[in-house]
Amino acid sequence: VVTATADESSAWYVRSIVTAAGKVGIACEVVDLGPEAPAAEIRERLESLSADGQVSGIILQTPLPGGAKLEDLASAIVPAKDMDGANPLSLGRLAAGLPAFAPATAEAVVRILEHHGVELAGRHAVVVGRSMLVGRPVAQLLLQADCTVTIAHSRTRDLPAVCRGADILVAAVGRPRMIRGDWIKPGAAVIDVGINRIPTGDGRTRLVGDVAFAEALAVAGHLTPVPGGVGPMTIASLLGNTVRAASLQRGAFEFPAT
Ligand code: NDP
Repeated sequence: VVTATADESSAWYVRSIVTAAGKVGIACEVVDLGPEAPAAEIRERLESLSADGQVSGIILQTPLPGGAKLEDLASAIVPAKDMDGANPLSLGRLAAGLPAFAPATAEAVVRILEHHGVELAGRHAVVVGRSMLVGRPVAQLLLQADCTVTIAHSRTRDLPAVCRGADILVAAVGRPRMIRGDWIKPGAAVIDVGINRIPTGDGRTRLVGDVAFAEALAVAGHLTPVPGGVGPMTIASLLGNTVRAASLQRGAFEFPAT
């Protein structure tokens, strides 16, 4: 895990990855380059890890130091070790229907739906959000699973009506409780990717999702909580990708299907 930030949420997430990796026996090293690291140094480190035969998978943690762009730096991660699908080549391969590692959060969304037996083929999925790391790859994976996919974003007209058409609704916006209960089709499967920190009024903060949980619970057929839900599954997907990458590099099987 390559990190170059003093961000506390990021540090917490990296510790969670290290702990989870330890539990399943994956050796996990944190390469902390510090918040002042120049982009060139981060890129060089990613290149050397890409070439290192002892390393099966690489994650570049965000946020990055000012000026550095994830998509620029992540292009230094070889796709076969790109555990979080951050290299634009990985997303391109995914869009082309070629084997690739999908971003772990996107993978987590689809795994949760599959695990709970939510039928995907032929059903209408609405993904709210079109970022490189979440919205777009989620849409690609759902398309591969034969959903009819709509991608909504900040310029979408009448978002509540678009959401009400969804059998499967994925919220990846970053706006606390934006998706209300009456935006949800009765019985829909709702996956809340959002992680938003809001003040509780007593000087503390707490995490909420992009979906108004209590309202949605009364309508949805399936609903993921925040915290919980997609967050822990993202870490599980990172570990799963790492195991598949290690097998791949030992020639145990072909470039893995996502
Ligand atoms: P981005 O900010 O990169 O993207 C947000 C998307 O939401 C954009 O496409 C934006 O549209 C869209 N959007 C913003 N406002 C609205 C609106 N009012 N109506 C409709 N669409 C809107 O965020 P990320 O994709 O990186 O993350 C989304 C959320 O998921 C965040 O809360 C983040 O913390 C969380 N997250 C959770 C992870 C997990 O493991 N659970 C991992 C990664 C992220 P436009 O493109 O038009 O600007």
